[in-house]
Order: sequence, then C-alpha cells, then structure tokens
Amino acid sequence: MRTPIVAGNWKMFKTIAEAKQFAEAVKQQEEVEGVEQVVCAPFTALPALAEALQGTGIALGAQNMHFEEQGAFTGEISPLMLKELGVKYVIIGHSERRQYFHETDESVNKKTRAALKHGLRPIVCVGESLEEREAGETAAVVGKQTKAALAGADTAQLADVVIAYEPIWAIGTGKSSTAADANETIAVIRRVIAEDFGEAAASVVRIQYGGSVKPDNIASFMAEPDIDGALVGGASLTADSFRGLVLGAR
Ligand code: PGA
Repeated sequence: MRTPIVAGNWKMFKTIAEAKQFAEAVKQQEEVEGVEQVVCAPFTALPALAEALQGTGIALGAQNMHFEEQGAFTGEISPLMLKELGVKYVIIGHSERRQYFHETDESVNKKTRAALKHGLRPIVCVGESLEEREAGETAAVVGKQTKAALAGADTAQLADVVIAYEPIWAIGTGKSSTAADANETIAVIRRVIAEDFGEAAASVVRIQYGGSVKPDNIASFMAEPDIDGALVGGASLTADSFRGLVLGAR
C-alpha cells in the first residue's frame, strides 16, 4: 500500500522568521499519523526549519536544485548541499520553473536522476496547459513528460519517486480539476511508468494531484484509487490550513 503524502510548496513565500512561526504553530497541534507530510521551503529558510520542525513529523523539502555536485554554476544549489541540511524531498520541474526558468524535459531528467543518486526523493511535476487540454492532448503530454523525467532511472529507485500531476490551468487559479479527471490522468501516468519499469515498480510510485487543492476539497481527490496525495501551494502556507490538508488526506 502507498502511504499518502501531502507536500506544501511554499514557492517564494516566507522569510526565516515566518517559517519559524509556521513551525511553532505546528508544534501546538496534535500529531497526525498515517500521512507523510513535507514542507518545501525557500532555500534560505531550510536551515532554520531543519531545526524548528524537529519532532513535528514534517519532513523538509526544497523546491529546486542543480544536478551537478559542485562546480562553476553561479547561483545554484547542489544535491549535496541540500542533503547536508537534512532535506529529504526536492520538487523537480515545477511548471513555474519550466515556464519562467526554461527547464526542459532533459534538465528535469538530469535533476531527477541526481536526486535519486544522492538519496533525495524527487517530487517530479508534470502537467498540461489549458491549450493542450482543450486540444485533447493531456494524456500524450503528461505521458511524454513522465517518460522523459524517469528515463535511465533504476527500477529499484522508483519507490523513492513521487510524481505530482499538476494541470497548469489549475495552479493558483482556484479552478481545480475534478477528482475523476485527475484520477484518469494519474492512471495514465502509472500506466506509462509500468510500460518502462514494470507493473510492480509502477504500483509503488506515489502520484499526487496538485492545483488549487484546499482543506475542503482534498478528501475528494484522496477518495480516488490512483491519487496518493497532493502538492499544495497557497493552502499550505498557514499551519492551520496545512493541518486541514493532512487531516483530509487520511
Ligand atoms: P496551488 O499551487 O495549490 O496554489 O494551486 C500548487 C503548486 O503550484 O504546486
């Protein structure tokens, strides 16, 4: 059985002080069992959170990284640097990075493999634009992105991979996919993984839905057989709302 996983994607929000406040508020809450919880924070807040989240059951995640271990790559952060901070998860290929920072299927693949090599769990984002959806290309686009991201990975490493299916038109718009539509596309993703890595490996990969997930709609997504959790932006920013998500994901 796949353990549900709720990951907050804080994007470019929260100073160190604000991140600490979040952690303090979480500490006032009772722990929730049965759901893996992750907060993907800005790089600058990671060291403080590594300490502040201790004992909360929330794992630390980053939002991006470079695929090289070190070198002349001004402004970049390497997998080793994240590992050193106690980071467990790293979002790879979020649509905002693909759109604004020119990430490609190729760089997403390099980063995914680098994460796995260094024992970081990649949360690999895939998803179609509104235009692609309206043209009936959702399955083809998402299938291609998934295959490209995982190309060359070891089958044995797939248990550490999380895929986040995030239709671009649903991100930050308040317009979520229906749970049934999301499940259908997520089933396509699982089938594509099975083609390349076999049924057994595909059955352990956790696949999240993302895009305007809130405490009051997460349960409808979690009720679908192929949806194993959510990657959440806006609604992950307060401790109360984050808890609402986790409770809804049980
Ligand atoms: P949202 O963002 O929950 O604010 O729609 C999701 C994401 O971009 O991961």
